[in-house]
Amino acid sequence: MQRTGRWVSVVWVVAAFICALQGRTVVGADSGASVPAAGKAKYVFLFIGDGMGRYQRAAATAYLRETAKNPDAVLTMDAFPVQGETLTDAAGGGVTDSAAAGTALATGHKTTNKRIAMDASGREDLRTMAERARARGMKIGILSSVSLDHATPACFYAHVPSRNEYAKIAHAAITTPTVDFLGGGGLLGQKQGDGTDLLETAKKQGIILVRTRKALAAVQPGKRVFAFNHRLDKKAALPWVTASKPDDLTLAELTRHGIRLLDNPQGFFIMVEGGKIDWACHSNDLKSAVRETLAFDEAVAVAREFAKARPADTLVVVTADHETGNLRPAKGGAGYRFGSKGHSAQPVPTSALGVGAERFKGKTHLVDISHRLAELMGQSE
Ligand SMILES: [Zn+2]
Repeated sequence: MQRTGRWVSVVWVVAAFICALQGRTVVGADSGASVPAAGKAKYVFLFIGDGMGRYQRAAATAYLRETAKNPDAVLTMDAFPVQGETLTDAAGGGVTDSAAAGTALATGHKTTNKRIAMDASGREDLRTMAERARARGMKIGILSSVSLDHATPACFYAHVPSRNEYAKIAHAAITTPTVDFLGGGGLLGQKQGDGTDLLETAKKQGIILVRTRKALAAVQPGKRVFAFNHRLDKKAALPWVTASKPDDLTLAELTRHGIRLLDNPQGFFIMVEGGKIDWACHSNDLKSAVRETLAFDEAVAVAREFAKARPADTLVVVTADHETGNLRPAKGGAGYRFGSKGHSAQPVPTSALGVGAERFKGKTHLVDISHRLAELMGQSE
C-alpha cells in the first residue's frame, strides 16, 4: 500500500513536470491512471438566482403549472437529484448584500457588504474560483441578465472595496485575462474617468464585441468575446423578460453559446446570474420575479442538456446569493406575499446535478458551496 502510494506520487510529480515543460496544467488532464482525475468536474456551471429564495421558486412553479395547464410541471432546477439549503449571512452575521454574497460564492470567504472579492478590511484581494480555474487552463464564461460589472458577476473577476466602483470593475473585466466570454447586459462603467471608452480598449485588445443574435452565432471559438444585447436599459441590463422582444438575447441562448465558445479539452467554468429576480423582488413585483425566474430556469435547462451528454465530467449547481423581499405564502393559502423591500436572512435552496453533486446536500453556507466547487474543480486554496 505504502509502496503503491509512493509510486503514484512519483508518477504524479513526473507528469506534473512534463506538463509544466509543455506549458500545460496537470489538473484537467484526465488521461492515464497516474492522474487522480476521478471525481473531478471538468465542465462546471454555477447558476446564481439573485434574490431567489424558496418561495420565488414556488411562485414560478405555480405560474408554470397554470400557464402550461399541467399540475405536475416542475422547474428544471427543482428536478435536480440533489437539493440542499444554504445560509447566506455576511461576515459578522448580518443580512448580506450581493457583493458580500458573491464574494462568499466566488472566493469561499465571508466579507462585509459592498466588498467585491476583498476581505472585510477592504485591503486584501481574495482569489476567485474563476481566476484559479483560468490559471489552470479552463475557459471562463460570466453571464448575467444585468450589467456585467454589477456585484454578482464582478465578484468572479474584480477586486474592489466597493461595488459602486463600476469604472474600476469594468476596467478589470477587460484588462485582466480572467473572462473569455462575457455576456448579457453591458458595462455600467464603460466610460472611464479620463473619458476613455472601454469598448474601444477592448477592441484594441482583440476582444470580439457582438450585440445581436446573428453576430453572436457567427463568432468562432478561440478569441475573447463580449456579447452585450443590442437593447439595454438605463442600468445597462437586459430588458425585463415581461418587456422583451424576440430579438433580445436570452440567458438560455447565452449559455448555449458559452458552451459552444468555451468547450475545450481543459474544460470550462460558466457562471450565469439571474440578476433581475432580485430587482423585481426589491419592488415587490411578483409577476416579474416569476418571469425572470423562469427565464433563468431555461438557462439551467441548457446546462442540464449538456450534462446529459457528458455526465462523467459535468457539474451543475444552482443557488442564490440571498433571498429578496421576504416572500412567503399568503395567509389563507392563495399565492405569495412580500414581507419587505430588502434582502432577508431566509436560507436559499441549492440544487446540484452531476459530478460530486451529492456534496451539496443538506445544510450549507455560501462559503461551503464555494469550497466544494473549488475542490471538485481540483483547486486547492
Ligand atoms: Zn438585492
